[in-house]
Amino acid sequence: MTDILKITDLHVSVADKPILRGVNLEIKHGETHALMGPNGSGKSTLGLAIMGHPGYEVTSGKIELNGEDVLALGPDKRARLGLFMAFQRPVAIPGVKMADFLRHSTTNARNPDRKEGEELIPMRQFRKELREKMGQLQMDTEFARRYVNDGFSGGEMKRAEILQLAMLQPKFAILDETDSGLDADAVRLASQSIADIGYRSMGLLIITHHDKLLEHNPPDFAHVMLGGRIVETGGVELAAELHSQGYDRIRKLYPDADADNQALIESSVSDGSVSDGSVSDGSVSDGSVSDGSVSDGSVSDGNAAAAV
Ligand code: ADP
Ligand code: MG
Repeated sequence: MTDILKITDLHVSVADKPILRGVNLEIKHGETHALMGPNGSGKSTLGLAIMGHPGYEVTSGKIELNGEDVLALGPDKRARLGLFMAFQRPVAIPGVKMADFLRHSTTNARNPDRKEGEELIPMRQFRKELREKMGQLQMDTEFARRYVNDGFSGGEMKRAEILQLAMLQPKFAILDETDSGLDADAVRLASQSIADIGYRSMGLLIITHHDKLLEHNPPDFAHVMLGGRIVETGGVELAAELHSQGYDRIRKLYPDADADNQALIESSVSDGSVSDGSVSDGSVSDGSVSDGSVSDGSVSDGNAAAAV
């Protein structure tokens, strides 16, 4: 069976504020989709809603993985089903070593019915795999001994997210601006790494402004989000156009969506949050903690520390 992630007429609110206004998207096994769009258009919101972030309320519409409704499932269950997200702003988990985190999450991703306390992947096998993947990503093995994202530079955090992707081999992965904070060479390495991971063996949604992140893993489809909906879908040429020319054409063509986009940004400025969703108005300020548990795929009770 071909894996399919299907999103139908999805509406999502954050703190009672409507953000997504009817998103339709279907991603099949082996496909790469690029998701572009100006700041505040709802790209991260879509990813976080797919993963089941508790601060992002689905008010109507469907998210299905191989026909199964995932909306009723918590983030950990979704991760065990094979959904993964690399965060725009990954969260540090002091006290939890990368290696322990990855050994738990990898075991649970491969054995979704595993209960906490049951056997993990044998240490020797895990170490060998981890060393191989870190080598592919040109990461120092010292990384594995450090606490998850604790004191990591922006670039190191992004590589740590790609390492998780490489180890977990999910069915579907959302990469949220994995290029942000990286210099041009690091973005190229990230693109090469995504290609090396075997990106054709999963479905990918890559949120990016940077065509360099798509260099070695060209998308089959490119989508533009504006004002909480996907207003245009094309191929790799659309991604190239947006990268070189920006969103002026799109904004003029879809004035209603553009007006919604402006309104969202203005309301987020007035309530003290920022347009990339990283700072909330307080109502979902605990979201950053659950971000950490979403990404590891291992945590059954929402407490990342319990994974170790
Ligand atoms: P993008 O990723 O396209 O830049 P986001 O999905 O982060 O856009 O944000 C879309 C809109 O939703 C923005 O106006 C943003 O301020 C608002 N938003 C997103 N997350 C939150 C949050 N946690 N708290 C308050 N507003 C949020
Ligand atoms: Mg974003």
